Amino acid sequence: MRIDLHTHSTASDGTDPPDALMRDAAAAGLDVVALTDHDTTAGWQAAVAALPPGLTLVRGAELSGRWYGSEPSIGLHLLAYLFDPGYDPLVAELANVRRSRDIRAENIVALLNADDIDITLPEVRAYAAGGTMGRPHIARALIGRGLVGSVDEAFAPEWLGRRYRLPKADIDVLTAVRLVEEAGGVSVLAHPRAGSRGHIVPDSLIVDLAVAGLWGLEADHVDHVPEDREHVRLLARDLGLRATGSSDYHGDNKTVRLGACTTDPLVYEDMIATATGIAPVRG
Ligand code: AMP
Ligand code: ZN
Ligand code: FE
Ligand code: FE
Repeated sequence: MRIDLHTHSTASDGTDPPDALMRDAAAAGLDVVALTDHDTTAGWQAAVAALPPGLTLVRGAELSGRWYGSEPSIGLHLLAYLFDPGYDPLVAELANVRRSRDIRAENIVALLNADDIDITLPEVRAYAAGGTMGRPHIARALIGRGLVGSVDEAFAPEWLGRRYRLPKADIDVLTAVRLVEEAGGVSVLAHPRAGSRGHIVPDSLIVDLAVAGLWGLEADHVDHVPEDREHVRLLARDLGLRATGSSDYHGDNKTVRLGACTTDPLVYEDMIATATGIAPVRG
């Protein structure tokens, strides 16, 4: 069984539409794939409708979380799986983050324009195509204008990585863990050691998240070196959490391929036995 629990479609900052993503997942030899777009469930329906025979879809999302208990606060990504998408308090939080992402994009474009870098909001919106707005869409607009050569280059400190980086209104992470649990889902801390993306999560915070109801840690991820993976695995074991592995596929917005890292089938069985919100869908 090959299980990939973290992918993005055009519903956020991936470049494959959900239906094409499902076909690609089957072609890549996956048995189970999770669709985890940033702060949205908008891609679920199209993914379910396009499920090839034999492929199982785990419906999920990657929530933009933040720990406000330290100065400066710490941004982190929380994968949420098999939660009830109609649970109002969670729906409201997701809508709030998406709204904040729209405003942030507008403000980043204004900052760029103030420095005579001429990209427009309609251009950026066209790259987002109605999906959750993210910095990769601004990166695409910069590439489109020939200002940078790649998405990676657009995330350099002189561009979106620092100079033109603005905060968005992330969900308080303890609230996020609680809401996912209330919605019958399970939560997994995404790429806790992915430092190059500004998301190193201190172990002490992971301990607090475990107490709050976190279910697992993403250990195997392309942004983790072998020492990180081992560290996260041991931490998960010590805290009674599960360790997952996944690609974090983004289509052409990243170089990683579907199934680049995978999750142990026993961990997956544990996940579907724990979640009470919704069930995986088999094509
Ligand atoms: P945002 O959520 O809008 O702040 O943008 C973060 C997204 O950009 C994440 O989904 C990352 O996958 C992507 N990202 C972050 N850093 C990089 C990078 N250095 N190169 C390419 N993509 C990146
Ligand atoms: Zn992304
Ligand atoms: Fe992430
Ligand atoms: Fe992701």
